[in-house]
Amino acid sequence: MRTFAFARADSVARAVESQQGDPASAFVAGGTTLLDLVKLDVMRPSRVIDINALPLNTVERLPDDRLRIGALVTNTDLAYHPDVLADHPLLSQAILAGASSQVRNMATTGGNLMQRTRCPYFRDAAAACNKREPGSGCDALHGVNRMHAVLGGSSECVAVHPSDMCVALAAIGATLTLHGPRGEREIEFADFHRLPGTTPYLEHDLDNELIVAVTLAPPLVPLGAAYVKLRDRAAYEFALASAGAMLSLDEELIGEARLALGGVATKPWRCREAEASLAGKRADTAAFEAAADLALADARPLSHNAFKIPLARQAIVRALRDAARRAREDDA
Ligand code: SF4
Repeated sequence: MRTFAFARADSVARAVESQQGDPASAFVAGGTTLLDLVKLDVMRPSRVIDINALPLNTVERLPDDRLRIGALVTNTDLAYHPDVLADHPLLSQAILAGASSQVRNMATTGGNLMQRTRCPYFRDAAAACNKREPGSGCDALHGVNRMHAVLGGSSECVAVHPSDMCVALAAIGATLTLHGPRGEREIEFADFHRLPGTTPYLEHDLDNELIVAVTLAPPLVPLGAAYVKLRDRAAYEFALASAGAMLSLDEELIGEARLALGGVATKPWRCREAEASLAGKRADTAAFEAAADLALADARPLSHNAFKIPLARQAIVRALRDAARRAREDDA
């Protein structure tokens, strides 16, 4: 392991200040991504800035009833927070479908947004990887790409975004508060993660900034929500395909629908056309299957992952069906 400088920040402003002029510095909170990748020689920070002392570990209800989640709230605390369980059960379900309880106890909200891909070539310093080493190539394109993306990929990178929590945030809709050298700004969650295009090494829309909070959009009423994750084993495994769905129902007609996918795309994947197709329809299997077909219309398989397309279709139909059942229960 390479040596690095270490600093502790006692305020958001000082944390941001200490990374200025040092593009190879990295913030650490739970450390569940960074420390792994430093040990693998994939990330090589010159300086690590510990942000655990910052006052960013609360969930607040805002006057307009939205929930504002501090970036240091752990995944466990977030999943079991009573306001999250009441307003956004999809978020709770998605978090609990990810990782192990030990990892969730350490991992933070901000860190989850910053997770790096699990592409094995990215994690192998001897492999060609445009994301880790710009211009070096992509060994996944013609290699073992069973776990890779069928949506949002490019000729430079087809790595899947690994987060379950981010699939829920994509479906719910959220605003991120970022603090940088010029103060605070807000961006939509949907604009935060970038598609790989020709610059797969640029993963986020961050400009020397620290994520300080995630504010969730208001919930649908009445609300049904379901997260379906399909994977090789039942626990502590990343998704082959996952779907997060939210529905509001008026009698048997769908009022509003939200749908996002994980395990199949290069960023948390919101399916807006599929959502629009569901509005006003009867909440039945025919509507859910048609929405799934729309959501996957642009899917392009690689040599080893064509199976992900029917798998994702099943995840979508199941998630929408479960969400509709829960919306009926919520309305009863
Ligand atoms: Fe690297 Fe992306 Fe190719 Fe994986 S898919 S080897 S992360 S460039």
